[in-house]
Amino acid sequence: MGKIQELSERLANQIAAGEVVERPASVVKELVENALDAGSTQIDILIEEAGLRKIQVTDNGEGIAEDDVENAFKRHATSKIHNRDDLFRIRTLGFRGEALPSIASVSEVTVETALQGAEQGTFLKLKGGSVMEHTPSALRQGTKITVENLFFNTPARLKYVKSLQTELANIGDIVNRLALSHPTVAFRLVHDGNKMLSTAGNGDLKQTIAGIYGISTAKKMLKIQADDLDFKINGYVSLPEVTRASRNYLSTIINGRYIKNFALNKAIVNGYGSKLMIGRFPIAVIEIEMDPLLVDVNVHPTKQEVRLSKEKELTALLSKAINDALKEENLIPNAADNLGFKTKVKEEKAEQLAIDLPDAKNSTGLSYDAVSGKFFVSESYQQTVENPVDNAVDEGEKTQNSFSQEAGSEPVSSTDVSYESSEQSAESEETAAANTETYFEETEAKLHPEFDLANKDCEKLLVKALEETETKPAERFPHLEYFGQMHGTYLFAQSNEGLYIIDQHAAQERIKYEYFREKIGDVTNDLQELLVPFVLDYPNSDALKLKEQKELLENVGIYLEEFGANSFIVRAHPVWYPKGQEESIIREMIDMLLTTGTVSVKKFREATAIMMSCKRSIKANHYLNEMQARVLLQDLAECENPFNCPHGRPVLIHFTNSDMEKMFKRIQDPHKTKETM
Ligand code: ADP
Ligand code: MG
Repeated sequence: MGKIQELSERLANQIAAGEVVERPASVVKELVENALDAGSTQIDILIEEAGLRKIQVTDNGEGIAEDDVENAFKRHATSKIHNRDDLFRIRTLGFRGEALPSIASVSEVTVETALQGAEQGTFLKLKGGSVMEHTPSALRQGTKITVENLFFNTPARLKYVKSLQTELANIGDIVNRLALSHPTVAFRLVHDGNKMLSTAGNGDLKQTIAGIYGISTAKKMLKIQADDLDFKINGYVSLPEVTRASRNYLSTIINGRYIKNFALNKAIVNGYGSKLMIGRFPIAVIEIEMDPLLVDVNVHPTKQEVRLSKEKELTALLSKAINDALKEENLIPNAADNLGFKTKVKEEKAEQLAIDLPDAKNSTGLSYDAVSGKFFVSESYQQTVENPVDNAVDEGEKTQNSFSQEAGSEPVSSTDVSYESSEQSAESEETAAANTETYFEETEAKLHPEFDLANKDCEKLLVKALEETETKPAERFPHLEYFGQMHGTYLFAQSNEGLYIIDQHAAQERIKYEYFREKIGDVTNDLQELLVPFVLDYPNSDALKLKEQKELLENVGIYLEEFGANSFIVRAHPVWYPKGQEESIIREMIDMLLTTGTVSVKKFREATAIMMSCKRSIKANHYLNEMQARVLLQDLAECENPFNCPHGRPVLIHFTNSDMEKMFKRIQDPHKTKETM
């Protein structure tokens, strides 16, 4: 007799389960996708112990007929495709008929289901894939599937499961994506009795985004739209100022299926052109409709990877749609500024950005809890509301800088609320350039309180400082004598050794980097209480990670206080944070933590310092006055490593005296030896 035998169905299912049911989150994904395929409008997901104890999905879909229920658990049994042609026209999320038998083979499953309008329902119980009970049940509409004791019979798989928090975060993430791709379905996710997510299911994508990423984020998302003969694109992308450190916040959805596709993610980022900082990514939710013939979803058992025909055309269309939306966004403040219609246009733009939710006010004191559908008002915020006179700020007189400092004490009429979002969006590139000057002066004053640039005495101080350096023993860094600049980008200086050209942006990055590194390094309990605490909303999966890693943030002076399921309140910040930047610094630090996962405190501090120095440095095309240039070179000389910016680019280049002489053929160089710099 031959050695080759067909595997028993049970064994084959367990093997397939290795691919389809990798972890609790995959079970949730498969069950919810089945519920979606059944045309449900309400899906409740109940989780216990991160899904290892129990996963229950209840839907109000079409249900399963009594004589079909057992078939549903047979391998390759599906109601979704019947022949080869169907395989190329898939409109459903499932079609492989693998999920239920795979799940059942590694857990205990019970099903209660009834067809719409049937006289009675069916109850089915399986253990390790074998039917234990099959009886009629009380009538209910739709299907309730309960999966218990997952991986009870596959200990190896159980070992592979990560911490409960990680598994739960994965479940949160997958449900978020499923909810984002189905705005017409009301989702509810409950873990151990705590609601983690609920969406309205009224078809409004922006409201779904608000339910998941928080209202303040949703308010800063722009609608995009485009179509051609093959594709129809719809969605929301964040303003360039709202970025994250990972691609995790890019969701692409094709015909209702959330997919992972590198080319599409790249197209989104390309749509921003140079508006995004390198290494930063926007938040985006992109729905794409196309003929199912153009997309092959049968590439991987989890069906998240797809193959696209006409990928080039699609990515070009997507990039252009984003580019167009952002272009309009930038033109408005410009034209308005020039014409002097600033306020009016701002209001219009704010309206465009406003979200159709019960007015969310601003994010500093008021937050919306998507789960309970309630708004919370912080105590200090209430005080602000009660004493509007103290806090009212005349919009017209407000400058960018005073605005950011006053951000915590905004009055609450709805126009002011929208003012916040429009003001910040206006602060994108062009305006940022205009701000640099004030910024530079401010920072300079902060770094050297004695060097108040408006103060004549500072010249004396500078001279004194220069003298001090001169008396220091000979150093590896040359004594630079400034004599000019070019294109607002390069500074020129000389020493006895020759000519130096300094990249002013790189120089300041280095100075700031060392400054911040030191500051972050010595975290003390020196906290500054915020007048108005602010609330940070995160999607449930990120919120879980943060709760787990709170300590790491505390090491750098950020104290998060839990505030509802997925929100945190921040009441104070280290005193040295640049004024007006507190919230964005805290956000970015958290972001960094979320992307890099567990990092050592040292690394975290270093990365944070780089991020902050880069953000706060003067960009090219900015002319410094002589005093500023000299201060900059002075600061540079005091750096631990004045030669490279934190990214490794050179800060200055050097032409030695003999280089110069050679270039001008003032001396002969018969051996063609070249001096190194
Ligand atoms: P697939 O989804 O690929 O068809 P599954 O193993 O996930 O395979 O499900 C098998 C079949 O069970 C489905 O084709 C469907 O007919 C039925 N089914 C599963 N879950 C549900 C549900 N929640 N409501 C209605 N029918 C369901
Ligand atoms: Mg399925």
